[in-house]
Amino acid sequence: MTQPTPAAAAPSLRALVVAPHPDDAELGCPALIEATEADILVLCGSSPERVAEAKNAAQSLSRGALRILRYQDGSLQPTQDLIRSLDALLPGYDIVAGPPQLDSHQDHRATAQALRSAVRRSATTLLEYETPSTLAEWAPTAYLPIDAGHVERWTASAREHVSQSGASYFDVEYRLSRARVHGYAVGHDNAEAYRVVRTDARLLLGTEERTWSPVRTPVVRPRVAR
Ligand SMILES: [Zn+2]
Repeated sequence: MTQPTPAAAAPSLRALVVAPHPDDAELGCPALIEATEADILVLCGSSPERVAEAKNAAQSLSRGALRILRYQDGSLQPTQDLIRSLDALLPGYDIVAGPPQLDSHQDHRATAQALRSAVRRSATTLLEYETPSTLAEWAPTAYLPIDAGHVERWTASAREHVSQSGASYFDVEYRLSRARVHGYAVGHDNAEAYRVVRTDARLLLGTEERTWSPVRTPVVRPRVAR
């Protein structure tokens, strides 16, 4: 199996990772954060303790900015206010990644719904990342191979979420086992899974000059293309 180095593959691709809660970005798409110029947007930053943890964790993985909104944990709705907040941040991003609509957590579902509305008039590619509460019927359609050192870096980042450290989904073996299952689907040792909600086809075909081509450097690769 090959050992890709996604961190070197996409120096000019800009991503916005939308995280309903302070730990969702590091749990859902740490390899995407490493592989792109990723900014992180946390929606429910109402707890000072968890905001501090989010800042420390983001610094260890992301080269971009961390923005934090103050919605209340557990009460997110796809309101006009939330959609406008997201819409205002979208220009300039090649990829927006958020939690799945098929998710048992109400804040994740609300975020997924709001993102669909927010991106409707832009060319931005919208991806769903996997969360610990993603429902079984969610099916990935794109995979980001993980390099050999990724789990080590992820572990360091995850440790910053001290208040959540007892949660089973922060366990390294849990993460590795999921990554191995997803990697097997695309012929790599380990991979992160995504569902493509919609995409600008130029990104897939490599015809958009300023964006990196997942076809030439297979990082996000649609299953149908294989
Ligand atoms: Zn969450």
